[in-house]
Amino acid sequence: MEKAILKIENIQRYYGNKGVVTKAIDDISFEVKVGEFVGIMGASGSGKTTLLNCISTIDTVTAGHIIIDGDDITTLRGSKLSDFRREKLGFIFQQFNLLDTLTAYENIALALSILKVPVRKIETKIAKTAKLLNIEDVLHKYPYEMSGGQQQRVAAARAIITKPALILADEPTGALDSKSACMLLTQLSQLNEIEQATILMVTHDPVSASYCKRILFIKDGRIFQEMLRENETRKAFY
Ligand code: ADP
Ligand code: MG
Repeated sequence: MEKAILKIENIQRYYGNKGVVTKAIDDISFEVKVGEFVGIMGASGSGKTTLLNCISTIDTVTAGHIIIDGDDITTLRGSKLSDFRREKLGFIFQQFNLLDTLTAYENIALALSILKVPVRKIETKIAKTAKLLNIEDVLHKYPYEMSGGQQQRVAAARAIITKPALILADEPTGALDSKSACMLLTQLSQLNEIEQATILMVTHDPVSASYCKRILFIKDGRIFQEMLRENETRKAFY
């Protein structure tokens, strides 16, 4: 059996106090194994972003445990937490979050230089990843010179280039037209298949979700259903 890279154990996240309490996450447990591509689906307000923010250490749980690659992140604090985030996680957000004053190449390189990767290695890694994501032509452009789809693929390159244990994506196609969305999702699935990248992607879009191999459905902060793609084609699964 493959190793679980992510274990979510009975997590809860409540907002507010005394009078009005919102149970954004109400006792969720699940596991993601190495090399899986898992989707989290649910209507707006069902708790998807809260769940992803708790896993990505942006938010903290009210109760329960989140174990990533053997470390319980609910017990990490301060610099231990930021080191963990840098070394183990990759993020792709709905808004591309690239730095405007840096070129695509520099945006991607930054993720590596923070980890003190030598310049020579940075060059070869970026060349390889740019090819995989089909952004070789835009590497020396600034974000404002690129389309949304290109920016999001640059953001994806930045997220994966450090070979994180887990890639977290929150509605990564939310700001893209359907053609760019399809291209990004195809490249994410290739990344999952070729590089065995483990991806957890939140979406409310059935087309995006159909690229995943397993989908967890959440409603009112709880998982209420799970679907496996098995050997079905993406179209049939959709
Ligand atoms: P989704 O991403 O599925 O649309 P969210 O995780 O953003 O859902 O929100 C889940 C629930 O938690 C919603 O009812 C939302 O209003 C509430 N919520 C989210 N963030 C906060 C916050 N910072 N303070 C109070 N309530 C929040
Ligand atoms: Mg959301």
